Amino acid sequence: MKKRILILHTGGTIGMISANGNRFLKPGLTGRHFIEIVPELNQLARVKTQVIAQLDSSNVLPHHWVRWLKSLKESYDDYDGFVITHGTDTMAYSASAFSFALGRTNKPVIFTGSQRPLGHLRTDGPENLINAVSLACDGPPEVSLCFGNQLLRANRSTKFSASDFVAFESFNFPPLAKMGVEVEPFWQSLGKSQRVRPGRPRWLCDFDSRVFSMKVFPGLSKEMLIPVIESPQCHGLVIEAYGSGTVPTRDSTMTEALILAKRLSKPVVVVSQCPHGRIDLDVYETSLPVRKYGALSAGDMTREASVVKLMHGLGLGLRGSALAKYFTSNRCGERSN
Ligand code: ASP
Repeated sequence: MKKRILILHTGGTIGMISANGNRFLKPGLTGRHFIEIVPELNQLARVKTQVIAQLDSSNVLPHHWVRWLKSLKESYDDYDGFVITHGTDTMAYSASAFSFALGRTNKPVIFTGSQRPLGHLRTDGPENLINAVSLACDGPPEVSLCFGNQLLRANRSTKFSASDFVAFESFNFPPLAKMGVEVEPFWQSLGKSQRVRPGRPRWLCDFDSRVFSMKVFPGLSKEMLIPVIESPQCHGLVIEAYGSGTVPTRDSTMTEALILAKRLSKPVVVVSQCPHGRIDLDVYETSLPVRKYGALSAGDMTREASVVKLMHGLGLGLRGSALAKYFTSNRCGERSN
């Protein structure tokens, strides 16, 4: 008996067209087109497609995640697995958001998309879609991202290439599967601490989008940074520090910023600008202010997962030590503690 798979289409290049001689790509394909262009999907499963948005993913906002999670929840019991088609630009954010909102799942929920539209010459869309649907039938019960012949844990993935067909990488966690002639199911040999426990989703679908994310860079000035932290619109801050978590200390910008955030009870998390590696505040003296004023270490989390997890923790109403505990512990495979 073939499995029942629901494709929830949100937009992105995979469903884009260049209409009326317009040279710009914009969303346009409907669910019917997916099956027409990739009829092989019907060989793999009983596939149904539902268009829940038609967005270039650069326009995706946290309130879209909430709406799309609602669609997933409404259909959750009727299907064996799910594929979310999405633009690549913010796929890692949306996929991370789904992983935190679900917490766990007993069915595969797989994000995919493409670098060239379905139906265009040399498109990578059909291959990604076929891989995603086949893994939605038999893949791991977690939120993942299928792209360029790899299956990655959703909250560990980062878009690193605007032009390669292998556009995503999971720098701090092994791939869940690789698709060659055969599917290599690496997820089956993950250690106990690396696995995500399957179960009914928790549906904790709240995000506070009033998080500001910024990169430390040579020349960052307090005149720019302090007003952001003082703004009532800023409920929390994600600082992308250098390397293992260092910041400039010869001028007082970062120290003053961290003291102010602490005084205003605005949580600050520190993630590395380097996609590979982790925050370790025990190495350099230039990490001292980060330690001293209670910024939360993102460990080896991605920048995307760090932003979304802070939004999620705040959205759940967590503050102070409860938020710190939530952020610094491993919830659904997003960090190695
Ligand atoms: N701008 C597109 C999007 O993120 C890029 C893509 O899908 O590859 O929607």
